[in-house]
Amino acid sequence: MPYYPFRCLDCKRRFEVFMTYSEYGNQTVVCAHCGSSNVQRRISRVRIAKSEDSRLEDLSDLDDFSGLEDDPRALGRMMRKMSQEIGEDMGPEMDEVIDRLEAGQSPEEIEAAIPELGAGESDLAGGDEE
Ligand SMILES: [Zn+2]
Repeated sequence: MPYYPFRCLDCKRRFEVFMTYSEYGNQTVVCAHCGSSNVQRRISRVRIAKSEDSRLEDLSDLDDFSGLEDDPRALGRMMRKMSQEIGEDMGPEMDEVIDRLEAGQSPEEIEAAIPELGAGESDLAGGDEE
Protein backbone atom coordinates (compact mmCIF):
# COMPACT_ATOMS: atom_id res chain seq x y z
CA MET A 1 0.00 0.00 0.00
CA PRO A 2 1.51 3.35 -0.91
CA TYR A 3 1.93 6.06 1.60
CA TYR A 4 1.17 9.67 1.02
CA PRO A 5 3.20 12.34 2.75
CA PHE A 6 1.35 15.30 4.17
CA ARG A 7 2.20 18.38 6.13
CA CYS A 8 -0.14 19.82 8.72
CA LEU A 9 -0.72 23.52 8.19
CA ASP A 10 -1.76 23.98 11.81
CA CYS A 11 1.01 22.30 13.78
CA LYS A 12 3.51 22.31 10.89
CA ARG A 13 4.43 18.71 11.45
CA ARG A 14 4.83 16.12 8.79
CA PHE A 15 3.12 12.79 8.72
CA GLU A 16 2.32 10.00 6.32
CA VAL A 17 -0.93 8.29 5.55
CA PHE A 18 -1.14 4.78 4.24
CA MET A 19 -4.01 4.15 1.92
CA THR A 20 -4.75 2.65 -1.39
CA TYR A 21 -4.89 4.78 -4.48
CA SER A 22 -8.66 4.44 -4.62
CA GLU A 23 -8.98 5.57 -1.02
CA TYR A 24 -6.93 8.64 -1.73
CA GLY A 25 -9.35 11.38 -2.66
CA ASN A 26 -12.31 9.66 -1.07
CA GLN A 27 -10.97 9.78 2.42
CA THR A 28 -10.58 12.83 4.62
CA VAL A 29 -7.00 13.10 5.78
CA VAL A 30 -6.42 14.50 9.23
CA CYS A 31 -3.16 15.33 10.95
CA ALA A 32 -1.70 12.40 12.84
CA HIS A 33 -0.41 14.77 15.50
CA CYS A 34 -3.20 17.23 16.23
CA GLY A 35 -6.18 15.91 14.28
CA SER A 36 -6.54 18.98 12.11
CA SER A 37 -7.94 18.50 8.65
CA ASN A 38 -5.99 21.54 7.50
CA VAL A 39 -3.32 19.43 5.86
CA GLN A 40 -1.41 19.76 2.64
CA ARG A 41 -0.14 17.02 0.40
CA ARG A 42 3.62 17.05 0.06
CA ILE A 43 5.50 15.89 -2.97
CA SER A 44 7.70 13.19 -1.67
CA ARG A 45 11.39 12.85 -2.34
CA VAL A 46 11.80 15.10 -5.31
CA ARG A 47 12.56 18.56 -4.13
CA ILE A 48 10.87 21.60 -5.54
CA ALA A 49 12.67 24.87 -5.21
CA LYS A 50 11.44 26.07 -1.87
CA SER A 51 11.63 29.75 -2.62
CA GLU A 52 9.06 29.37 -5.35
CA ASP A 53 6.32 28.00 -3.13
CA SER A 54 4.09 31.03 -3.21
CA ARG A 55 4.14 31.27 -6.96
CA LEU A 56 3.79 27.55 -7.45
CA GLU A 57 0.54 27.66 -5.55
CA ASP A 58 -0.89 29.75 -8.35
CA LEU A 59 -0.36 27.04 -10.92
CA SER A 60 -3.53 25.14 -11.56
CA ASP A 61 -1.67 21.87 -11.94
CA LEU A 62 -1.05 21.79 -8.23
CA ASP A 63 -4.60 20.64 -7.69
CA ASP A 64 -3.75 17.40 -9.35
CA PHE A 65 -0.73 16.00 -7.60
CA SER A 66 -2.42 12.76 -6.73
CA GLY A 67 -0.96 9.89 -8.64
CA LEU A 68 1.97 11.81 -10.04
CA GLU A 69 4.38 9.92 -7.84
CA ASP A 70 3.27 6.80 -9.62
CA ASP A 71 3.70 8.42 -13.01
CA PRO A 72 7.21 9.85 -13.24
CA ARG A 73 6.76 11.09 -16.77
CA ALA A 74 3.70 13.12 -15.83
CA LEU A 75 5.54 14.47 -12.81
CA GLY A 76 8.50 15.39 -15.00
CA ARG A 77 6.27 17.17 -17.48
CA MET A 78 4.56 19.07 -14.69
CA MET A 79 7.86 20.10 -13.14
CA ARG A 80 9.19 21.24 -16.48
CA LYS A 81 6.04 23.28 -17.01
CA MET A 82 6.47 24.82 -13.58
CA SER A 83 10.05 25.65 -14.37
CA GLN A 84 9.01 27.32 -17.59
CA GLU A 85 6.19 29.27 -15.98
CA ILE A 86 8.47 30.47 -13.25
CA GLY A 87 10.86 31.55 -15.97
CA GLU A 88 13.91 30.90 -13.89
CA ASP A 89 16.65 28.36 -14.13
CA MET A 90 15.94 25.90 -11.37
CA GLY A 91 19.50 24.65 -11.50
CA PRO A 92 21.29 21.71 -13.03
CA GLU A 93 20.06 19.34 -10.33
CA MET A 94 16.46 20.11 -11.12
CA ASP A 95 17.10 19.76 -14.83
CA GLU A 96 18.57 16.35 -14.21
CA VAL A 97 15.64 15.34 -12.03
CA ILE A 98 13.19 16.38 -14.73
CA ASP A 99 15.18 14.57 -17.41
CA ARG A 100 15.19 11.43 -15.32
CA LEU A 101 11.50 11.69 -14.52
CA GLU A 102 10.68 12.05 -18.17
CA ALA A 103 12.80 8.99 -18.85
CA GLY A 104 10.49 7.11 -16.53
CA GLN A 105 12.65 6.85 -13.43
CA SER A 106 10.92 6.87 -10.08
CA PRO A 107 11.69 9.56 -7.51
CA GLU A 108 13.34 6.88 -5.41
CA GLU A 109 15.68 5.91 -8.23
CA ILE A 110 16.51 9.53 -8.87
CA GLU A 111 17.21 10.20 -5.24
CA ALA A 112 19.55 7.23 -5.18
CA ALA A 113 21.30 8.46 -8.31
CA ILE A 114 21.66 12.03 -7.07
CA PRO A 115 22.56 11.78 -3.37
CA GLU A 116 22.75 15.55 -2.98
CA LEU A 117 19.01 15.72 -3.49
CA GLY A 118 18.33 14.01 -0.20
CA ALA A 119 21.01 15.79 1.74
CA GLY A 120 18.91 18.83 2.53
CA GLU A 121 15.61 17.09 3.12
CA SER A 122 15.00 19.07 6.30
CA ASP A 123 14.89 22.25 4.23
CA LEU A 124 11.77 21.03 2.55
CA ALA A 125 9.44 21.53 5.48
CA GLY A 126 10.59 25.09 5.91
CA GLY A 127 9.64 25.24 9.56
CA ASP A 128 11.83 24.87 12.59
CA GLU A 129 9.93 21.91 13.83
CA GLU A 130 11.60 19.89 16.52
ZN1 LIG B 1 -1.29 18.94 13.05
